[in-house]
Amino acid sequence: MLFISALPEKGDTLRTEILGVEFDNFNMEEAASKALELMKQRSGAYVVTPNPEIVWMCRDNAALKEAVAEADLVVADGIGVIYGARILGTPLKERVPGIDLGTELFKALSEKGGKLYLLGAKPGIAEKAAETISGRFPGIKICGTADGYFKDDEPIIEKINAAAPDLLLVCLGAPKQEIWMHKNAPRLNVGLMMGLGGVLDVFAGTVQRAPESWQKLGLEWLYRLIRQPSRIKRMIKLPVFLLAAIGQRIRGKKK
Ligand code: UDP
Repeated sequence: MLFISALPEKGDTLRTEILGVEFDNFNMEEAASKALELMKQRSGAYVVTPNPEIVWMCRDNAALKEAVAEADLVVADGIGVIYGARILGTPLKERVPGIDLGTELFKALSEKGGKLYLLGAKPGIAEKAAETISGRFPGIKICGTADGYFKDDEPIIEKINAAAPDLLLVCLGAPKQEIWMHKNAPRLNVGLMMGLGGVLDVFAGTVQRAPESWQKLGLEWLYRLIRQPSRIKRMIKLPVFLLAAIGQRIRGKKK
């Protein structure tokens, strides 16, 4: 008996469950291709990119758990999820960082003159991120930006629907962004949405991503911790998550 189970996905493939959260076992290419297919359908689909912290949050946040379970694409953002899957005996193909998946979609949007809407982060950040993205992907049309500290959803939804983006980045941090996408998906006129946490801060240049060598070593989390020591309270969930995976594996073996 496996300690991780392969469960039916919303769509057409199987998902792999890791400590209560089901992931699509896709590599980057497969994830990008699935995302582009969903974008074409324009049915309000959304992508979530859980790391160990989000998986752990799902244990006692029912709204987040439901939002993640109902997502159309669930990719493993953190190296911790990859280690957890290995410990549990059903490895995932590879880590699919949300920022890299987003960048893959920017390339495709740039080629076809697609529309991108940026929602989230502090005032002014989405506009700065838009400048960087336009510079790197000149074919993309930025069709709107808004900060993530709004009180009322309605005016934001109206603006987004009027702009009708192919891709909407929802960067409100977890669990707000996942719950927001789940709640509003049926009313949004978008190709695809992605919940991408602090990604606008990275494109705006206010937060630095770890150098590639650190990313390759699976140490992006350590780099972020060194740059922002206040994240320790959040990152403490990484060892807790791994210990839970070890515990589940041991319990499973005894069965
Ligand atoms: N944020 C937001 N609205 C909120 C709370 C947070 O737009 O009500 C933004 C915040 O400014 C930041 C992002 O959400 O840009 C969360 O970044 P964080 O680094 O926590 O996300 P991570 O990449 O770790 O998931």
